[in-house]
Amino acid sequence: MKNTFHHPLPDKNGYFGPYGGSFIPDELQKIIDEITEAYLRIREDPEFLTELAELYQHYVGRPSPIFHARNLSTKYGTDIYLKREDLNHTGAHKINHCLGEALLAKKMSKKKLIAETGAGQHGVALATAAALVGLECDIYMGEVDIVKEHPNVVRMHILGAKVIPATHGRKTLKEAVDAAFGGYLEDPVTQLYAIGSVVGPHPFPMMVRDFQSIVGNEAKEQFAEMTGGLPNNLVACVGGGSNAIGLFSAFLEDESVKMYGVEPSGHGLEKDGEHAATLSKGEPGVMHGFKSYMLKDAEGEPQEVYSVASGLDYPSVGPQHSYLKDSGRVTYESVDDREAIDAFFELSRLEGIIPAVESAHALAQALRMANNGEKGSILVNLSGRGDKDIDFVVDNYGKDYGIDSEL
Ligand SMILES: *Cc1c(COP(=O)(O)O)cnc(C)c1O
Repeated sequence: MKNTFHHPLPDKNGYFGPYGGSFIPDELQKIIDEITEAYLRIREDPEFLTELAELYQHYVGRPSPIFHARNLSTKYGTDIYLKREDLNHTGAHKINHCLGEALLAKKMSKKKLIAETGAGQHGVALATAAALVGLECDIYMGEVDIVKEHPNVVRMHILGAKVIPATHGRKTLKEAVDAAFGGYLEDPVTQLYAIGSVVGPHPFPMMVRDFQSIVGNEAKEQFAEMTGGLPNNLVACVGGGSNAIGLFSAFLEDESVKMYGVEPSGHGLEKDGEHAATLSKGEPGVMHGFKSYMLKDAEGEPQEVYSVASGLDYPSVGPQHSYLKDSGRVTYESVDDREAIDAFFELSRLEGIIPAVESAHALAQALRMANNGEKGSILVNLSGRGDKDIDFVVDNYGKDYGIDSEL
């Protein structure tokens, strides 16, 4: 079997140029170094690779198809293709790295997976992987999010995970990270902190990228089969950046392929706290144990962030994206709430596919490019399905699209 987990970056200390690395307390560094060593070993282990490949096929339902969106293509005047990560078991790309992290934890004889979650998507994907692999699972979640994201909290309970509320501060994602970090420090030996995107200290940006690279590897082969060549453009939304790097990583050496990462500009880029466009508006800084572009407030602390898509509102970004921005290999754009919701309805009504509002940001960028005269093919990573978003979208935007909000 071809081992696709080998990439030129990061270096052995986890740096992508000046970004990445590991900024954590010494006692924790020892434990994280063990995770790095274990990961570098198992990614060469044919037994591990086979086990993961079989789960991808028979459990997740991979390969996820590429769909040529003909109705959209006709209307917008260029060929638009969708990589259907929304069709995975649990409805998004997150299961790809959660299964990898769960298998790693099992091989390291850990007892428990822990993680933070915002909207609950990562929590559900991790609780799923933990149930399958036979590990305990603690998910830390802000009290405010627990109320807001009730269905995902119920799912986690059904899957046998424990949901631990973060009760301090604003009681949302950042506080959940703090609480999970605290919980991890209490027992880093029997627990593995399964980070939810290509963020955090080395090795997580590398490891999560490697697990997500299945998306791009499949897409490259599928696209060649369908069309005989490479796509002209790739587009993916960027929260922490895992679905985007998963798609991009297979094409980085293909100079003819242009790549676009799409951040959320929420209510607009002008006002701090009203967007989460880290690469467009941020500056280099350290938070959550790694160096990357970051949105800072006046004190240099992580800025408050906002987006209609709760999977995209993070005030930092995966370090490889910072590197790819500076090198110019990837162009980072932003899309606001309204454009994303327009794209959400456009895809629903023209193709019968309800996308996650996160993924709708990527689609909105593709439609904008087509409107601006792009004639080359555009492959959009449809990172997840929109079932989780339907009530929110209809309550807040339904009437603009002819839907009675009293429904
Ligand atoms: C979590 C999530 C994202 C954002 O995470 P990345 O690490 O940037 O990929 C995007 N889309 C969906 C559907 C998600 O659940």
